[in-house]
Amino acid sequence: MTDCIFCKIVNGEFNTEFVYENEYAVVFKDINPKADTHLLVVPRKHFESLNELDDEVLLGKLMMTVKEAAKKSGLKSYRTVINTGKEAGQEVFHLHIHILAGNIKL
Ligand code: AMP
Ligand code: ZN
Repeated sequence: MTDCIFCKIVNGEFNTEFVYENEYAVVFKDINPKADTHLLVVPRKHFESLNELDDEVLLGKLMMTVKEAAKKSGLKSYRTVINTGKEAGQEVFHLHIHILAGNIKL
């Protein structure tokens, strides 16, 4: 997906700092944080939303990535959110999992 902002971030086109990364996903800070800590777990492979994800192994890997990124960031208590579809508030159509901790406003 050449015009997908998260694909560009995954490919390093914006020099975004990754707070964590592995074979399956990159994790970086949300540009418009809705909590003291607001991270996005973004799979390296493009899926428009959870509805397009057909790989249950990858889904498991992404949730493990959430756990690893939270641990690396020193978070013991956090909320995870996946917005699926415009009506649910999805703005970027590349699957991502929000990690929110501290003064959550979402
Ligand atoms: P969603 O509404 O679930 O699609 O979430 C998209 C999130 O991506 C929002 O919280 C935005 O603030 C965040 N976002 C959009 N563009 C960027 C960017 N270039 N870098 C970091 N976060 C971004
Ligand atoms: Zn993408």
